[in-house]
Amino acid sequence: MVFVGDFFAIGLIIVLCMFYFERKHFLSFNSRIFAACLILIGLTAGTNIFCYITMHDPAAPLWMLHLLNSLYFLFLMAGSALLTLFLLYSILEHVCHAFCRVMGTSITLGLTAAYLLVLLSNFKTGAIFYFDQNHVYHRGPLNGIGYFVILGEIFVIFMAYFRNRKVAPKAMRRVLLQTLPSLLLGLLIQRIYSEIMITTFFMAMLALVLFLNFQGRHSGVDELTRLNDRSRFFRELDLRFSIKQRFQVFYIELKDLEDHTKHYGKALDDDIIYLFASGLRHLIPQATCFQLSRLTYAVIIPTVKNAAQNRETLQKYLAAGLTHSSGHIYPDTILVEYIVDEDSTSVADFHAKLDYAIHTAHAEHKPYVYYTPALGEAMHRRQYLLGRIQQVDAAHGFEVWLQPIYSLHTDCLCSAEALLRLRDDDGKIIRPDEFIPLAEESDVIYDITWFVVEQVCRFLHDNSALDFISVSVNLPMPQLQIPGFLDRLNRITEEYGIEHRRICLEITERTFLEDYDTAKDCMQSLCQAGYRMFLDDFGVGYSNFSWLLQLPFSCIKLDSSISQSIETDEKSRDTIRSLIRLFQERGNHVIAEGAETESQVNTLSSCGVDRIQGYYYAKPMDMDYFLDFYQNTYHHA
Ligand code: C2E
Ligand code: CA
Ligand code: CA
Repeated sequence: MVFVGDFFAIGLIIVLCMFYFERKHFLSFNSRIFAACLILIGLTAGTNIFCYITMHDPAAPLWMLHLLNSLYFLFLMAGSALLTLFLLYSILEHVCHAFCRVMGTSITLGLTAAYLLVLLSNFKTGAIFYFDQNHVYHRGPLNGIGYFVILGEIFVIFMAYFRNRKVAPKAMRRVLLQTLPSLLLGLLIQRIYSEIMITTFFMAMLALVLFLNFQGRHSGVDELTRLNDRSRFFRELDLRFSIKQRFQVFYIELKDLEDHTKHYGKALDDDIIYLFASGLRHLIPQATCFQLSRLTYAVIIPTVKNAAQNRETLQKYLAAGLTHSSGHIYPDTILVEYIVDEDSTSVADFHAKLDYAIHTAHAEHKPYVYYTPALGEAMHRRQYLLGRIQQVDAAHGFEVWLQPIYSLHTDCLCSAEALLRLRDDDGKIIRPDEFIPLAEESDVIYDITWFVVEQVCRFLHDNSALDFISVSVNLPMPQLQIPGFLDRLNRITEEYGIEHRRICLEITERTFLEDYDTAKDCMQSLCQAGYRMFLDDFGVGYSNFSWLLQLPFSCIKLDSSISQSIETDEKSRDTIRSLIRLFQERGNHVIAEGAETESQVNTLSSCGVDRIQGYYYAKPMDMDYFLDFYQNTYHHA
């Protein structure tokens, strides 16, 4: 029997279809492709059998033979294209490699379309096959191009796998190892013994291999917690997105569980995780729970009917803490809620937004974050700013502005603080509060310091009129401890001939790290080299006052909040007055920041503050303006 292979293929496909459709595995985009593959393979095998029967029926008209054979090639090549796309998208399942996806799809569809054009022209040209009057099948000159298309598709799969081999699902590797060599062998056998028709048999076998591996991945359940694993989470999301209905997703993180359980040992640690997970699983009846990593979980609820109630249930569950055999613990948790709308199409976009919401919860120390469009805008703003700050120089919009600082003793401008500005494409200024925290997430903040130091030194060097003033520069604490910091600072000041005492370095209280001793050593070397150290934002930090006093600061800057509250709050006024006296007795100057009104200035002055930096005197201004301002408005005596 020439078409025994086809019968076998049809049988196999029928069994697969029954499994596949009964379990409704075709709800996600990729599995719909697979369902279409199954149908096309079945059609190919069926048509092949019909072709064979009609060829041996002398009454069958020639056009029918032609049509049936063309349909066979059509189904065959469409099936092979869909199998390729299924493999391609499975490889890219967990990655958003748009280039691979687009290239792979274009090559596959392009090759198939070209083949179909040739097939269409075959009615006239007989380039692929033709029949003579005796119903004998003849190969045309282009009969073999189908093999080239299949080779092209194999190439696409190999390239996609090769480029994404680190992130491709493990099952994919198995599939490729199992099928590609046998497929190549099959093609070869078919080429040599063309009378045996094994093409559809091979395609059905490939479908079987895919089905088995594909099903195997459905057993993704964590051994300990019995919760669905990460890959199921992705699969479920895929499925939910394809259904296009609103649904609710929660992301849960046990932030400091490790700290709580360190001293209990591994066994109890596992106990607690198990307790948490099993509680979670039974919390909301319609929910599916996932374990993304040891301490991170997700809950998907397919409707939003009880959204508020679900949120409340989860919040209560997290707040209740966990009881285990040795006691009760209250781990810090993060809960992020996201409602996916019916018109959301991109899973990749969802992941980016969820990541941002998680980032916000961490960065702002919030136990609960609800993803809203406003958060989405903030995410885009963040991405935009991250792009903008990659290059820190004047050509990329960075400008150093200066804010005058006034001495209350001489009533004169005695120094200034360098404050960075970033000019947007539309000429507007982006405030440092927006971009400095982003820069602090990476080494960009170090480039910023060097840019500011260099600009300040150049400005002082170019304008001898400013010889009497010093300028302070904000310095992130970790940078101070980088080896070679002092050398580089010396190099710049020497290059511009700026006396070291004219450069002051402001360090904020909140950036003091645990490594107090190193920090102290570094600060001492800077002071010995003649630079001055200022303590910034005093009053908002959490540092230890006694060791603060041991650091070699020449000046303490009171945070704006003090300037603002001192007027109204009598008690704090007394405390601040005593603190200022204490600092001054130790030889420190005290600068008050953020004084905006005359009465604030008067109160600060009555408390003994030495200098004031605030809008009452002047706002930060660009360097040219500062020079004019200094020379014309309040000239130094
Ligand atoms: P900061 O170091 O505490 O700087 C003082 C901030 O208070 C400046 O805000 C200044 O414009 C503002 N300010 C001064 N007087 C008043 C006032 O009377 N009223 C009000 N409402 N504000 C006043 P700015 O320039 O927006 O800078 C914000 C923060 O960004 C700075 O706080 C500093 O932490 C950071 N920053 C700015 N430039 C740099 C820089 O070059 N390097 C680093 N590492 N951080 C910088
Ligand atoms: Ca400052
Ligand atoms: Ca400050």
